[in-house]
Amino acid sequence: MEIYRLPARSDNYIFVLYNPSNRTAAVIDPADAPPVLTKLDQLGATLVTIFNTHHHNDHVGGNRELLERFPEAEVYGGAEDQGRIPGQQHYLRQGDRVTFAGRPAEVFFVPGHTRAHIAYYFLPERSGEPGELFCGDTLFAGGCGRLFEGTAEQMTISLGKLRQLPDNTRVWCGHEYTLNNLKFALSVDGENAELRSRLDKTTAARQQNQPTVPSLLAEEKATNPFLRWDSAALQAVAQSQDAVTVFGRIRSMKDNF
Ligand SMILES: [Zn+2]
Repeated sequence: MEIYRLPARSDNYIFVLYNPSNRTAAVIDPADAPPVLTKLDQLGATLVTIFNTHHHNDHVGGNRELLERFPEAEVYGGAEDQGRIPGQQHYLRQGDRVTFAGRPAEVFFVPGHTRAHIAYYFLPERSGEPGELFCGDTLFAGGCGRLFEGTAEQMTISLGKLRQLPDNTRVWCGHEYTLNNLKFALSVDGENAELRSRLDKTTAARQQNQPTVPSLLAEEKATNPFLRWDSAALQAVAQSQDAVTVFGRIRSMKDNF
């Protein structure tokens, strides 16, 4: 399975999965159809699957146009998103499995950003190789999605599910927000040397207009304040040792950053 990252709109990423053995493709969160169609044409690929993580227009905006060109493509999304994702035919829940190119992906129900959000975790092809996590607007490189339809408690549980995946998991999130996320992270976790060096690396990458997605889950666990509710530094900032309270206070600070 090959993975292509397509920039879209001001800061979105669309991901195309490609199976060269039969020239089929899947797309994850097509904000818009044109960049996807261009990529499919380049590959000479037939689109067979659309995987959506949640109903926001910058993640499903291209569904209709892609279905006009590939009417046989099947559309997957969260069970709770029924009626909100154009063309949706499959309604996924926690623990469901989907496959592409013979590769199984586990579905995680991760409400918080929206009440219906799901993530797709493609298991490693062989042991020791990385799994691929497509997490939409739940976990970002250095941050997490805003709480539009869910609570801090839901998001803490959702991020907790993703946090227990293997360290070498690659995190393919839906937006290039990393630099700003890490600037905020440093404001609440200033003694974190790994975070400081990640911010330097990210600053340099963004100056060259290089993408920072995917990131590594190990790096997120070490530097992303929204996975670090059990670190003493963040507990001190939030003045609490309760996971949900720490997460919720740090999230509110980020909303006002
Ligand atoms: Zn969203």
